[in-house]
Amino acid sequence: MSPLQSVEVHTLPPERFEAVLDGPQWELVDAASRHARDVIGERRVWNVNSTASGGGVAELLRSLLAYARGAQVDARWVVIEGEPDFFVLTKRLHHLMHGSPGDGGPLGLAERELYERVSRANADALATMLRPDDIVLLHDPQTAGMAPWLAQRDVHVAWRSHIGIDRPCAEVEAAWGFLLPYLDDVQAFVFTRRDYVPEALAERDVTIIPPSLDVFSQKNHPMTADQVASILITAGIVDGRAVAPPAFTHHDGRVSLVHGRALLDETSRLTLHDPTVVQVSRWDLLKDPLGVMLGFAEHVVPYIPGAHLLLVGPSPEGIADDPEGAVVLEQARDVWAELPADERSRIHLVSLPMTDRSENAAIVNALQRHASVVVQKSLAEGFGLTVAEAMWKRRPVVASRVGGIQDQVRDGIDGLLLEDPTDLVAFGAAVSSLLADPVRAAQLGDAAYEHVRADFLATRHLIQYLGLFGRLIDGDHHQGIQ
Ligand code: UDP
Repeated sequence: MSPLQSVEVHTLPPERFEAVLDGPQWELVDAASRHARDVIGERRVWNVNSTASGGGVAELLRSLLAYARGAQVDARWVVIEGEPDFFVLTKRLHHLMHGSPGDGGPLGLAERELYERVSRANADALATMLRPDDIVLLHDPQTAGMAPWLAQRDVHVAWRSHIGIDRPCAEVEAAWGFLLPYLDDVQAFVFTRRDYVPEALAERDVTIIPPSLDVFSQKNHPMTADQVASILITAGIVDGRAVAPPAFTHHDGRVSLVHGRALLDETSRLTLHDPTVVQVSRWDLLKDPLGVMLGFAEHVVPYIPGAHLLLVGPSPEGIADDPEGAVVLEQARDVWAELPADERSRIHLVSLPMTDRSENAAIVNALQRHASVVVQKSLAEGFGLTVAEAMWKRRPVVASRVGGIQDQVRDGIDGLLLEDPTDLVAFGAAVSSLLADPVRAAQLGDAAYEHVRADFLATRHLIQYLGLFGRLIDGDHHQGIQ
């Protein structure tokens, strides 16, 4: 094992937000960047997580660190290494933190031994790169075990949990029982939502920072309808004749073409004119791919002739830290194969190529823009970046009232929320109502865009982080949740 991979971080000028923000919003960003430059100086800000691609945390880090660098903060990103059993264990913790039993495996002494051994090796590797007074921001349960070793060094250590659950339960308690002993010496904590903060940390230095969307990324960059069509045709997802190149724009303005093809499980071919309902997510049972499929088959197909569901996820071999992905995709395929032929013909399982991350993002972008309705029927969700992505594209969203989704979507204003994510009848009714009423769907989509612009841009996130780093350096700690 060679612990720690460095991930290349680009540099992006925060000034590009001037075009999207109101004047006073931009002045805040500018002032915060200038202040941070003075306070942080030459110190490096090390971000540590468990994957460079796939999932929301990697998405967030990629853009946020680039803007931090653009603000002249020396932000860095390293990814931990571990044997497969370590990631099986951390996936178990991930599920428990979402209130689900996961694989039901133990969290005993043997698991602690494994967790501590891998964490120690990664912490030791990181320590060789640290300079005194650097800042280390550890992300999620995979990295919490590094904190005790790093805290012995002359550096500032903060830990961020991107996940959590609205109401405590035995599973979450079990995960915290495992993790808390490693967090004693952490100086500051960051959580996505107040409800995610465990009782045991409520009196520590906790900052609430909701995630944000990178509106200039390949995932969210504007595309013309012709570009969208061409990308979907080239990726093999819809039939038709492309009238434009399948082009997408990189952060630095470079333009590339989509080449890769999606892997499809389907018995009919989509055309550009078919209304589509789209869910994009990792193949994870907490995203409820089986419920989405059954809800659509039973409660949309009979009412909305011609509508198709696209259940979209990464091709599973592309994601090293998610051993369950392939298993869940197989389960989805099994359920799909058992559906009556008519229902099956209206549902498409789409596995996207992962070899080129930018291309993958461009295909997701095109799929979201093409969707008549975007759904995110998660059973639990830390934030739900796919929701903000769809809202930014003015899509009407149907999503579960869970986790961070409820901070993004206000029911009936900028999308529709499902009170009970397992209620397939309500899910079908909400989706059908939007498919049947494009005017209302467009109104919700327009309001969704404005909500993201006001509250979920990377600049707001950056300001909050820069403030936290300043406080860490000054030793200016608060007690409790802010
Ligand atoms: N995603 C992607 N390609 C895929 C599936 C998902 O780029 O094939 C992205 C998706 O667009 C979103 C992120 O992965 O940006 C998932 O973040 P989210 O917060 O929705 O869920 P998480 O995976 O963190 O639980």
